[in-house]
Amino acid sequence: MTTITTTDLSQVVEDAAAHLYVWALKDIPQDLRDALGRARDRETSVTGIRVLETIHRNVEIADAQKNLVCQDTGIPVYYCHVGELFPLHPARIQASLKTGTERATLEHPLRSNTVHTLTRESTGANVGYRVPIVHWHFVPDWDGLDVKCVPKGSGSENMTFLKMLFPADGVAGIKRFVLDSIVDAGGKPCPPGIVGIGLGGSADYAMHLAKEAIARPVGTRNPDPLVAQLEDELYDLLNETGIGPMGLGGDVTVLQCHIEHADTHMTLNPVAVNYQCWAARRASAHIASDGTVDFDREA
Ligand code: SF4
Repeated sequence: MTTITTTDLSQVVEDAAAHLYVWALKDIPQDLRDALGRARDRETSVTGIRVLETIHRNVEIADAQKNLVCQDTGIPVYYCHVGELFPLHPARIQASLKTGTERATLEHPLRSNTVHTLTRESTGANVGYRVPIVHWHFVPDWDGLDVKCVPKGSGSENMTFLKMLFPADGVAGIKRFVLDSIVDAGGKPCPPGIVGIGLGGSADYAMHLAKEAIARPVGTRNPDPLVAQLEDELYDLLNETGIGPMGLGGDVTVLQCHIEHADTHMTLNPVAVNYQCWAARRASAHIASDGTVDFDREA
């Protein structure tokens, strides 16, 4: 963990974003490394083992050369937990996250991915209208700011599914939809990865929850025991599909299955599935009101 102290909070947040974006792309968290190691140990298909060893070698080379684990620098996504007493307004935080992302892209340099969604023309250095994407949580009685950067690769983001089930479909319907989604995705999202599932709320909120689920440390369990049990059951079920590493067949199709949930309307049963490829990049900064920054790869 590295600690930096300064007082210009706009600059602190900008510098933190610039660091987080590059760091997340190069140095994957230990829990993900461990999950990839366990996957290699339990895979029995020759092709699957070869794929997982190639991924392992890829990560080693990225470490040794201080290079990216994947060429797709993703769409930049930030999750912010802002204390009500943090002395920088969220509008300024958002502006600093954008400038930091732009700076990281130009200074490294990184591949820029952002385009206008209709013209497909570049909108800049991984920034654009409403990009980076920033999600907010507001925390009472606290003066800190936590920022988590989750660059999301397009191969796995394209494998995203939403279904408004009937309430009567119940848990069996949820399992069927998740299973169908992952079987349809096959090798396209660069498996084995993390399946994020959002249950409940509304259509848009279920999708938001699915994205939050993929950003959790690998293998953490939902605090609700019923939901945690469903995470375990789906993890086992998805690994019985035989899709395997990169869709080439094998025992390991997913590294984990994470679920986030919200209460919902009595006539709603939304289920969202968001796939996160093996390159499940994330990096966090904890910023204190005095400008002290603790960088944290594992949060
Ligand atoms: S899906 Fe993930 S591993 Fe595959 S190319 Fe995209 S970022 Fe890289």
